[in-house]
Amino acid sequence: FLTQRNVALVVFLVLGSVTMHVSDPVVPSSLDTLRLRGNLSFGDVSLAARDFGNRYQLLPAAVLHPGSVSDIAATVRHVYRLGQGSRLTVAARGHGHSLQGQAQAAGGVVVHMESLGGGGRMIVHGGERPYVDASGGELWINVLQECLRHGLAPKSWTDYLHLTIGGTLSNAGISGQAFRHGPQISNVHQLEIVTGKGEVLNCSNEENADLFHAALGGLGQFGIITRARIALEPAPKMVKWIRVLYSDFTSFTEDQEMLISMKETFDYIEGFVIINRTGLLNNWRSSFNPQDPAQASQFDSDGRILFCLEMTKNFNQDEADDINTQVEALLSKLRYIPSTLFQSEVSYLEFLDRVHVSEVKLRSKGLWEVPHPWLNLFIPRSRIKDFAKEVFGKILTDSSNGPILLYPLNRSKWDNRTSAVIPDEEMFYLVAFLSSTPSTASDRSSLDRALKQNERVLEFCKKAGIGMKQYLPYHATREDWKAHFGESWERFARRKEAYDPLAILAPGQRIFHKAA
Ligand code: FAD
Repeated sequence: FLTQRNVALVVFLVLGSVTMHVSDPVVPSSLDTLRLRGNLSFGDVSLAARDFGNRYQLLPAAVLHPGSVSDIAATVRHVYRLGQGSRLTVAARGHGHSLQGQAQAAGGVVVHMESLGGGGRMIVHGGERPYVDASGGELWINVLQECLRHGLAPKSWTDYLHLTIGGTLSNAGISGQAFRHGPQISNVHQLEIVTGKGEVLNCSNEENADLFHAALGGLGQFGIITRARIALEPAPKMVKWIRVLYSDFTSFTEDQEMLISMKETFDYIEGFVIINRTGLLNNWRSSFNPQDPAQASQFDSDGRILFCLEMTKNFNQDEADDINTQVEALLSKLRYIPSTLFQSEVSYLEFLDRVHVSEVKLRSKGLWEVPHPWLNLFIPRSRIKDFAKEVFGKILTDSSNGPILLYPLNRSKWDNRTSAVIPDEEMFYLVAFLSSTPSTASDRSSLDRALKQNERVLEFCKKAGIGMKQYLPYHATREDWKAHFGESWERFARRKEAYDPLAILAPGQRIFHKAA
């Protein structure tokens, strides 16, 4: 019946969001004849046209709920065999937490990767080099919970765990542990991948190594990750969680850099920029205890630009005294404002799943499913002060739209054979502007304002030659993508030709376009 459809291209522009419906006359009815363990749904496909960014809505023709890896392979092979006569594309959708439609496929097939998940496919292996084998559609929170039952846990994280393995490995997967262990893509032993030709291949450093490295940080361009083998370590039971404030940017970044360069240091190190926030330390009191309550209550954050250093130290109960001594020694080396030292102790699970607590609160107020014009940048260490001087306080006069993260990472923990793109310096900073822009009856323009601010930041980086690279990148033209990849563009394009020559996969990244 799909062959009978007329071409319809309808673009709705509503409040800055784009809804696009493309029905392709050559979407073949033969899709319907594929013999699958799972199923293809042609009916309600609207969920597959949504993402966390809440700005792009590209409707697919069908959603595949795979019952097995063979279902995914059969579907991709089918589309591959249709060749260039068909416009059909295929997008793996993890948890749909992309920002600009990257997991969507206008008029194509979206693969609902979570259907592949399920505890049955997750196997934890102990021993000297423990690891877990898990489905590419598994959520990291489920991986953590399963591993904890064996006293183990992955080493490298994202701040939020309701994301899939395939989704974060297609970018990099970074958080405050990345300075020690590297990003998540540095902690994978093996992948199973369905390529753009529909082949199912195992790959690792030893086997199909080029595909292995291509897929890590590969923005879904070379294959669909159906299984990953992830490195584990013994899981601590508890976490000492510490926050302090700085008013001087140089002391803040120098302390961060010193901490990530030390051998004996914290287990997690991040930072935040806070601009003109009222009652900041009072808010912290709901989850942290001030070291000096009297002084802390006098502290005024109004109208100021402050920098928060956040650190944790993992421990088990029998090590509590020892850990306190180590933490005190580390804190004594830092130059934070003394009255702003706040501490707390929580379980390892509570710490790692901390953002979910905010999600639940925001959802209850209807503030989760709103536009998220996020901008994530990697800034070389040599230019971070120039960047901060221009952006904080000038381009951004408050941080009320959402958190601004700023923390250092080290290139030596990244593998340059992967597809991930980072600046060309040993140390660089993640700067993440994580804006939420609900529109209220009185103010419908907060999304526009945030987008303009992002543009100004990007323009400044370009004009000042900051050497910045986007993380979770979004580029509108081939030229911009080439500039993003720089010297590695040729390798990226060659890998595309080798593993997805018809440009079937992850069309929502808008890097390559299927010819039809
Ligand atoms: P999706 O949005 O579903 O997919 C992302 C891309 O990967 C798409 O192009 C898709 O086609 C492709 N893809 C999905 N699954 C597969 C697969 N199995 N094989 C191949 N390609 C696939 N990132 C960090 O690094 N650190 C953070 O701390 C962090 N925090 C976040 C917090 C929140 C609240 C949100 C919304 C995002 C955060 N991110 C963070 C970004 C996140 O890692 C990426 O957006 C990630 O892609 C989302 O995973 P997902 O499962 O939702 O992927």
